[in-house]
Amino acid sequence: MKNSPFKLVVIITLVVVALIIALVVINSNNSGSSEETTLDEQPPINGQPTLGDSDAPVTVVEFGDFKCPACKAWGENIFPQLVSDFVDTGKVKFSYINVLFHGEGSQLASLAAESVYKQNPDAYWEFHKALFEEQPSENHHSSWVTTEKILEVASGVSGIDTDKLKSAIESNSEMNEVNKDTKLVTEFNVQLTPTIMVNEMVIDDPFDYEAIKTAINNALEEN
Ligand code: CA
Repeated sequence: MKNSPFKLVVIITLVVVALIIALVVINSNNSGSSEETTLDEQPPINGQPTLGDSDAPVTVVEFGDFKCPACKAWGENIFPQLVSDFVDTGKVKFSYINVLFHGEGSQLASLAAESVYKQNPDAYWEFHKALFEEQPSENHHSSWVTTEKILEVASGVSGIDTDKLKSAIESNSEMNEVNKDTKLVTEFNVQLTPTIMVNEMVIDDPFDYEAIKTAINNALEEN
């Protein structure tokens, strides 16, 4: 008898603790939409290299930097899944916008990529991939992006006239496109690379493919 109020307190405490645990579990299972940030608008992709059906209902944008190791890893690990699940199936179009967080090398790589895109849009994605492959796994801060390296990479991609590319790089002919991207980086307050956006939504963790899938599927439902 005299122990029962104590027992009651213990039971109530256990029930409360169980409820708290249940809430924590429910919240952590609910990731994917709750942590993402929704902006007022999506980045404009006119004039940007875009993969997939131009009428695809959902737009995924990567703000990336050829000198950023996380962008290389994203391109190797997440991008192929995104392409096979959503781009090849006509649900998503994917655009890449240049970020120059690593200085001169980022700028030269971006200028080269924009020049390839201008010369032959069909050669762009292969060049993009081949250039990322040249990023060294150690000491990515080294000055590995040079005009010589770019021309070497371009010569391995079909459909690129390397002489034309060389003169485009030397004359900075596509610098306006690089500057256009930099303006978007500022406008969309990009702080980290890669930054992945699904329509107006910024994905909190670009390596969380489940979160990207959830955002795309939600956008497809709203469509
Ligand atoms: Ca661009």
